[in-house]
Amino acid sequence: MAYLLAGDKGGKVLIYNNFRYQKNKKTAAKIHWRCWRKECRTPLQSNLFAENEEDPNIQIIQSEDHNHGGEKELISRSVLVQRMRDSIRTDPTRPIKRVYNEVLTQAARNVPVEDTPEFRNVQSALKRTRLSLMPEIPDTINDVDINGEWATTWAGQSVETRAKSWPCTFLHKIQKSETLYSEGHGDSLSAGSNRPSELPSLVSCKTDKKAH
Ligand SMILES: [Zn+2]
Repeated sequence: MAYLLAGDKGGKVLIYNNFRYQKNKKTAAKIHWRCWRKECRTPLQSNLFAENEEDPNIQIIQSEDHNHGGEKELISRSVLVQRMRDSIRTDPTRPIKRVYNEVLTQAARNVPVEDTPEFRNVQSALKRTRLSLMPEIPDTINDVDINGEWATTWAGQSVETRAKSWPCTFLHKIQKSETLYSEGHGDSLSAGSNRPSELPSLVSCKTDKKAH
């Protein structure tokens, strides 16, 4: 079966029989692909299909032997990373480590452990995906909406406007931080800050970043 995966540089790669192909050119009736390995470049031809469709109907017209073995492990990893990215897109507020663990847990029955990526190898790519989806940090208090459980104190009182004035500068700093350490302090807003990696999502900007 042939299918598409997101490539490392934004384009799509074609996966077929555990080999990975880059698009070479499109003609009126076919798409020409080549093995992604420079030392191989074995050609493959597919039908002309809708590359942006969710589940395109891909047919392989012609394929040849490669001068190397199939790349099952590499492809399994790419599939898993793609699933992690999709999952982050569904809900970017979750910490990436949690998304990573969830995807690997779900895949555990079908993918051998040695074919799964280590967290440190996918961390920065997942971080980039997550950051690209986060709302922009608000510049003024008028841009701030505090939602859900964070809009009220534990006693159920709504947070006073003046108490909202801390997030803007705080969030600008927090987004740049690699590691956050926190202690409890008087303000009930920070009562949940033992989950620092989720903090930037607590306050959203009214002018959300346009989807891209
Ligand atoms: Zn090849």
